[in-house]
Amino acid sequence: MGQPIESACRPESACAEPVDVAIIGAGFAGLTAARALVSAGLRVTVLEARDRVGGRIHTRHAQDGTPIDVGGQWVGPGQDKVLALAEELGVETFASFEEGENLCLHGGRLMRFTGMLPPHEPSALAEVEATFRALDALAETVDAETPWTSPDAGALDSQSFDTWITRTAHSDEARFWMRFLARSVLASEARELSLLHVLFYIKAAGGLAALISMGGGAQERRFTLGAQHLAERLADTVRPHLRLNAPVAALAQDGEGVTVTTASGEAIHARHAIVTLPPALAARLRYSPPLPGTRDHLAQRMPMGACIKVQCLYPTPFWREDGLSGMAISEDGPVSLIYDNSPAAGTPGILVAFIEGDEAKEWTARTPAERQAAVTRSLVRLFGPAAADMRDYIELSWLEEEYARGGYAGFMVPGAWTSLGATLRQPTGRIHWAGTETASRWPGYIDGAIRSGERAASEILAAR
Ligand SMILES: Cc1cc2nc3c(=O)[nH]c(=O)nc-3n(C[C@H](O)[C@H](O)[C@H](O)COP(=O)(O)OP(=O)(O)OC[C@H]3O[C@@H](n4cnc5c(N)ncnc54)[C@H](O)[C@@H]3O)c2cc1C
Repeated sequence: MGQPIESACRPESACAEPVDVAIIGAGFAGLTAARALVSAGLRVTVLEARDRVGGRIHTRHAQDGTPIDVGGQWVGPGQDKVLALAEELGVETFASFEEGENLCLHGGRLMRFTGMLPPHEPSALAEVEATFRALDALAETVDAETPWTSPDAGALDSQSFDTWITRTAHSDEARFWMRFLARSVLASEARELSLLHVLFYIKAAGGLAALISMGGGAQERRFTLGAQHLAERLADTVRPHLRLNAPVAALAQDGEGVTVTTASGEAIHARHAIVTLPPALAARLRYSPPLPGTRDHLAQRMPMGACIKVQCLYPTPFWREDGLSGMAISEDGPVSLIYDNSPAAGTPGILVAFIEGDEAKEWTARTPAERQAAVTRSLVRLFGPAAADMRDYIELSWLEEEYARGGYAGFMVPGAWTSLGATLRQPTGRIHWAGTETASRWPGYIDGAIRSGERAASEILAAR
């Protein structure tokens, strides 16, 4: 691997022991990469800005100790990497609650329903179903490894998802459900998203049903002690190599290695670096030499989704007594999607509600008290007056998180995949790119983050 790099330590900066690989970020991508490289015998340092591991996974605790996932929480079939990791590390999961009827507030009407879709006029329902099928079929044509090489990639990428919706779906219902899909799955408005990106996302998850279902899909299971339990157990495997409260400010590379400098001025010299930040954040670090124009332009075209995750705690899950599952869809705002998020034991009763897309951009600027009042009004409209009687309210606007600036993930705007997508995973010299956004299976999910960490680690092992 070339000459020793100790000499690169300049007298004016504090220098840590040189390592083989410096990993930026201790989310699932960074921790996975670290584990693979440490077990291959490499010297590794993971630099994490926050005072905790997990990144976009974060478990807080209610006053009674109930774990509350304010970030990612669900896993499901097909997400083989995260499920295998949980099993290997002895981290328990349980089935999400989905018994009873769902609610939908649409067109001023509150409807109870079972299955995926609420009742509509037969002709409208047929069109909604046909539009879902058309989207799924189009997604089948996309190559999730290299979306830019898919048949008709140029045409698919040069339109927004909303353009496709307007052309394909003629009823209000079909358009509503497609736009709702963009918000609930990508935390974005349909007009912001490249159609090719939406198709890639569906294909990489194995189809629409896998993305949107609870049982049989991505929302099937939760972690009994919260998702951060898994991140902590994974971090235990690399604990001596982990540096918290160490935000990275700059990376400088030459033919021999990469010097990573933290915000406090400490320099870490490494043969290679892995950056696991979502592209929008990765582009805010300083690079020397500057990143290639194509890489920076890619990052300029991958904004983060916008979402505020809210949890309302009640003494019991009162909706279950009324035969309701707790799952609800509302077009009345600010929340659009709600689920029963009670712990495995059943109490306290918890409703988790998502404020997504434009609503999130609007409501992140309000006070928590204003948001709580609006969320309460939404829940009362859906679940009745008992929903006002909450014991605790826990929320997180991911737009305000300095080290995420949104969620669930970064997405491609129209044109980005075909003009710049090839640079997404391409190493920049000795800097390798990981993070869920770079995955070709389950991007945007914990599973994709793990896969990306494994891929980046194997790139470095192959380069030795
Ligand atoms: C509200 C919400 C709900 C979600 N729900 C689900 C779900 O139910 N299921 C699911 O599978 N996925 C879900 N996701 C997505 C999932 O959380 C992410 O895909 C996954 O955690 C990303 O992991 P990562 O390692 O790629 O990135 P991150 O977790 O973002 O890790 C990057 C790390 O880099 C750190 N960092 C940032 N800047 C710097 C810097 N300058 N220096 C050093 N460190 C830095 C960050 O603090 C972070 O720890 C959700 C996300 C959100 C926000």
